[in-house]
Amino acid sequence: MIYLDNAATTKPTESVLKAFNYAQLNFFNPSANYIESTKLSVEINAVRQKILNFLHAQNSYNLIFTSGATEANNTAIWQANKFKNKTILVSLGEHASIFESVKNCGLNYKTINLKQDGTVDENHLIKLLQENDVSMVAIMHVNNETGAINNIPDLSKIVKQHNKSIMFLCDGVQGFCKFKINLENFNVDFYTISAHKVNGLKGIGALIYKNNINLKTFIFGGGQEFNLRSGTENVGGILSFSEAVVDRSENLEYIKNLKNNFIKNIKQLKDIKINAENGSDYILSISCKGVRSEVVVRLMSEKGVNISSGSACHSRHQDNRVLNAMGISGEYLLGTNRISFSNDNTIEEIDRASKIYVDVINSIRGNNE
Ligand code: PMP
Repeated sequence: MIYLDNAATTKPTESVLKAFNYAQLNFFNPSANYIESTKLSVEINAVRQKILNFLHAQNSYNLIFTSGATEANNTAIWQANKFKNKTILVSLGEHASIFESVKNCGLNYKTINLKQDGTVDENHLIKLLQENDVSMVAIMHVNNETGAINNIPDLSKIVKQHNKSIMFLCDGVQGFCKFKINLENFNVDFYTISAHKVNGLKGIGALIYKNNINLKTFIFGGGQEFNLRSGTENVGGILSFSEAVVDRSENLEYIKNLKNNFIKNIKQLKDIKINAENGSDYILSISCKGVRSEVVVRLMSEKGVNISSGSACHSRHQDNRVLNAMGISGEYLLGTNRISFSNDNTIEEIDRASKIYVDVINSIRGNNE
């Protein structure tokens, strides 16, 4: 099987599994007072510190572990509840865990347009800031469906120059560990991450937030995570997360080569568009006229290649907010597939997978070019 759905989830590494196993053998509750428990509690805090240091965030940020980025995004959006009469600005590219959270909190919100390349339209952001009394702005770093990369330092500068008390939430899930990130330069108030996108385990993530924020919680109980996220810690998730926090930025050339090869091998197909072409090399979004993306996924899977239709979170929905916002519609929209890479993929796999993709498209279109 050739796995090319790494934006949906990734394969855990051996060292991740080893750390998880260690935590299962050391099954103690980190809140207890005996030596074994205290040791785990120290180890959890070491992971916290490691992630903050990794992001150059140790001086101005705190971190709480969550069940994943969905919970971290919900917790960040929850902070806007303090300003119910104000407006929250959400980019049309945001993940459902932000969009749905804003809607279900009953917050006033306005959407920020995307440009054709899938990045946020900064002129529209400026206009919305001028026209509304804004509490928070939510703009992701790398889009999970298209790979479009937003320039977070520039966007947060626009927001903070307008009014420095506006909170900035950046969903960092698809950029974390893949690009060099300095949170001080990002100058965001909230940054969210998830372990299973970087070869860690599912069910563990984190909310990183500026230490001048008086964070409010909606999970009450035993007071773990500084009283901000009660519940016995996911020790296996946290300790194994540490093993996944590795700077992969030096492998970007390798990933770029995989993506470029895939593109090169499918260029013979007519009526296709590569979306967000200058985006993350980890994600390739292709819109192909005359095919249905879910049929492409099924036929590819039957031939041993796993790809995605749009994004995993959207695969149950017919419409697509993100692609629509980029001006992709009609037949091209219906024929959009996502192919996403990891260091585990080889160039031979890419050659095989891209040839299978061409065959599948041709067979659906009923021609054998
Ligand atoms: N944000 C983005 C950009 C994502 O790609 C995902 C995962 N699809 C999430 C948030 C949610 O992360 P988790 O699975 O850890 O809840």
